[in-house]
Amino acid sequence: MGLSIKPKRGKNYPVLTCDICDQAIQKLDSAIITFPNPLTKGNVAISGIYHKVKCDPKSLGNRKANADCWMPLNEYIPWLLWNHRFGKRVFTEQKRQLIIDILIDD
Ligand SMILES: [Zn+2]
Repeated sequence: MGLSIKPKRGKNYPVLTCDICDQAIQKLDSAIITFPNPLTKGNVAISGIYHKVKCDPKSLGNRKANADCWMPLNEYIPWLLWNHRFGKRVFTEQKRQLIIDILIDD
């Protein structure tokens, strides 16, 4: 399912779920995103999000899951936020930094 909404106590909460088991991804370092290879320049590929090893289509022997390549989710999410400029980009000689100031109204 990937990006999803889960109702809880009368409200709807955003949740990131595994495409195999539909359970929430609890830790970014426990999940991967997969995508087909080769990617065609200019096109957007369908990707999947899975618990690492336990639900990874390659580990499960599923070769039809557009899962030729993979990236750890703890690398993908910061890169996604950076590419979409979901924050203020700061460049120094040593590093690139994305500063996100989020106010959650719960
Ligand atoms: Zn899973």
